[in-house]
Amino acid sequence: MAMKLFDSLSREARELRPAQPDGIFRFYNCGPTVYASAHIGNFRTFVINDVLRRLLELEFPGKVKHVRNLTDVDDRTIGQARQESRPLAEITRKWTDLFHADCVALNCLQPHVEPAATGHIREQVDMIDVLLRKGNAYRTPNGSVYFKIGSFPAYGALSRIKERELKVTNSVFDADHKDDVGDFALWKAYKPEEDGDVKWPGPSGAAEGRPGWHIECSAMTKKHLGDTIDLHTGAVDLLFPHHENEIAQSQCCNGAVFVRHWYHSEHLLVDGTTMSKSKGNYYTLGDLVEKGYSPMAVRYALLGGHPRKQLNFTLDSLHSSGSALGALKRFSQGLKPAGEGNPPIAPSGIFDTVFTALRDDLNLPAALGALFTVINGLGAGAATQADRAAFERVLYALGFETPYLATGDMPVLCPPEITALANRRLAAKRAKDFATADGIRAELAAAGWSMRDGKNGSTLEPLRKA
Ligand code: AMP
Ligand code: ZN
Repeated sequence: MAMKLFDSLSREARELRPAQPDGIFRFYNCGPTVYASAHIGNFRTFVINDVLRRLLELEFPGKVKHVRNLTDVDDRTIGQARQESRPLAEITRKWTDLFHADCVALNCLQPHVEPAATGHIREQVDMIDVLLRKGNAYRTPNGSVYFKIGSFPAYGALSRIKERELKVTNSVFDADHKDDVGDFALWKAYKPEEDGDVKWPGPSGAAEGRPGWHIECSAMTKKHLGDTIDLHTGAVDLLFPHHENEIAQSQCCNGAVFVRHWYHSEHLLVDGTTMSKSKGNYYTLGDLVEKGYSPMAVRYALLGGHPRKQLNFTLDSLHSSGSALGALKRFSQGLKPAGEGNPPIAPSGIFDTVFTALRDDLNLPAALGALFTVINGLGAGAATQADRAAFERVLYALGFETPYLATGDMPVLCPPEITALANRRLAAKRAKDFATADGIRAELAAAGWSMRDGKNGSTLEPLRKA
């Protein structure tokens, strides 16, 4: 039986399968806007998507292509750069580094490609040119370009927006002349008082300026995964208008079905309301690490609810997550090492119930429940080597592999800028730029941290008490 996942377009759980004859499963996940620290609400979405990625890797070994973008030019990034009187690239670099460091700390797998919007201006302009030629887009007198939703009869199918009616508040955000309140910007003409020095040559007949937000995902999906992809994900707030607009742009430009399967996970709440930067009611991973919680406890807590239900965040949930990880660690330590020197052993089926729950629309609470039922039911010493192999498969799927588990119940008090540096060193090493890697190691040492590279990855340790 194939893995099933709820599809937001058909509104039913459907099997996940690659469509193309090459068997590659094409997966696009909308990434962060890099203008401030991502909060743990954002990370609920990224951690859920990470479990999805891991399950896909197990389902289609070596055949998954995962793309997650960086939104590094939009109103928020430009606004932040202007507020700090710094170049846009400097601001987005800083927050991208921190995002990467947090992803490493939370043990999220790197996407195979992580394209940035500013690296794909040409591709966005090309797509807008096609939409202009095909009559799906129009220029306004000031040189912006809008998508004409009336030209795409299927507009609204994902969000059922026609049943809800477009809100007029949606339309009153700038002085451009739109034909219809629902039409949205593909290209925004340069405004010196708002955009500073951020501008590029525009589509044909349009002014210089910058892309609207939605077109970046259509252009980067097309470039890195092709016209039709197998799965596209994000949190519920992206369903409308972002994903609705992506469908309109991509299908009108490419003349092909854009996405075969849509998945939207629900928000993380605090005191019953959505955690968000604008409300100021958020925690970053760094905030929680400073309070002494481990990133693995945060990961566990973020995986604690059904992804399609809202999850209320409390510090108490981090305490119980720490205890759960402690139990997993003790179980792991009591298991015999996996097949040392022996032929590889097929995993036993004792954790099948965990995978059944995960493969049934990513039912995380049922999977964690099943995991502890198995662990608590197994007498000490009763587990075999094959059971260890099976347990490690479960840990991989959830992202709690043994070396990470070991840190689960210990606070890791590492400041985010140190993790950011460590992450840059890893990137330099991966790129075989050893001079840079050594330079960063020296920077880390000067800041009081030692970075050691071992078989199971790298570790950071304080050289002296801060
Ligand atoms: P942003 O950096 O604002 O572009 O958001 C990155 C991702 O986090 C997007 O998929 C958002 O939908 C998602 N997101 C924003 N707020 C929350 C929240 N409170 N809980 C879960 N996901 C969120
Ligand atoms: Zn997107």
